[in-house]
Amino acid sequence: MAVFVYKFGGTSVGSVERIKMVAEKIKKARDRGDSIVVVVSAMSGETNRLTAMAQEIQQPPNDREMDVLLSTGEQVTMALLSMALHDLGCPACSYTGGQVKILTDSMHTKARIREIDDTSIRIDLDEGKVVVVAGFQGIDDKGNITTLGRGGSDTTAVALAAALKADECHIYTDVDGVYTTDPRVEPKARRLDKITFEEMLEMASLGSKVLQIRAVEFAGKYNVALRVLSSFKPGNGTLITYEESQMERALISGIAFNRDEAKLTITGVPDLPGVASKILCPVADKNIEVDMIIQNIAADSTTDFTFTVHRNDYQRSKEALEQVCRDLGAKEVTGDDRIVKVSIVGVGMRSHAGIASTMFRVLAEEGINIRMISTSEIKISVVVDEKYLELAVRALHLAFGLEKDEG
Ligand code: ASP
Ligand code: MG
Repeated sequence: MAVFVYKFGGTSVGSVERIKMVAEKIKKARDRGDSIVVVVSAMSGETNRLTAMAQEIQQPPNDREMDVLLSTGEQVTMALLSMALHDLGCPACSYTGGQVKILTDSMHTKARIREIDDTSIRIDLDEGKVVVVAGFQGIDDKGNITTLGRGGSDTTAVALAAALKADECHIYTDVDGVYTTDPRVEPKARRLDKITFEEMLEMASLGSKVLQIRAVEFAGKYNVALRVLSSFKPGNGTLITYEESQMERALISGIAFNRDEAKLTITGVPDLPGVASKILCPVADKNIEVDMIIQNIAADSTTDFTFTVHRNDYQRSKEALEQVCRDLGAKEVTGDDRIVKVSIVGVGMRSHAGIASTMFRVLAEEGINIRMISTSEIKISVVVDEKYLELAVRALHLAFGLEKDEG
């Protein structure tokens, strides 16, 4: 008997009608003889609504109480879905994270799962019941309710699938899979049948936000086969799995991009041991995440240093850097918050040379100036002016043969 974990996101359970549709889908799967554990999110908009209420009362809201509050969203869905299943004559039972018990650390609002006790779930499955679990929540060792951070239901689903050694974990959402790039930018984007965990992590962190990144990391670590599918459209979605043989693998799996980038440069920095840390520590101290970093080769014992940050952190980073500039006696700080990052991603890159040069040639032919470059084993990223984003993505998508077959 196969065991599946199905996770339904907020839009999939966004109304009573949709909850009934989800129940029908689950019942069909159970009638085929599979064991089904369902993880649900709060109905769409609910977590935001609760957060807004909390913020009207206390700024910032008490962490522990925030978890008590936000966990109710998922609790509503699990009860309604379980009722919808009963109404269809399908035995079902719902549990909160604490009831299961999904044991977490005590970091309220961003807790991490430590352990899952799957005893009661297994008993229910053996009795032929569908088990419905509230996503995004757990309990710490003192019995406090905790939540796993926004989008955390994906992580609940993967963690349960790992604990139950499920055959597959299905993430039902409002898109029908992972695409070669964002179809809003390139309408010829193609749904991928398969992608590796590593590729998915690169695509997700670069803006193709289908799944919570932590859930993908978790799935990779415990080798949980993860499938992203639409709750509304039939189809097999995209399977996220381990890398298989290199045979017939595409060189590049997708083009990711990130619009919210900004870059900062400090010039005329004395070229001495410790300057990189003197430049970056004040930025890190403000909790600002730095992405690409470039240091030029020194000329006349001074050097230039450039790095990128999220656009929202641009002003704060600039202020921090201006202070560093005065402290180090550097020349000046300049910046640009109208840049984007475009990346090609693919495990096929490991075994093929010349991918970077193809990428740079394609951009040159379009007259796109590359401002920064960074590479990793399965990704090459460039920073370009914001106005070239669409052109760059489409040109690369075509050049690497990613478009769907017409007709
Ligand atoms: N309800 C939570 C959120 O909106 C968790 C989730 O949906 O995964 O972030
Ligand atoms: Mg979600």
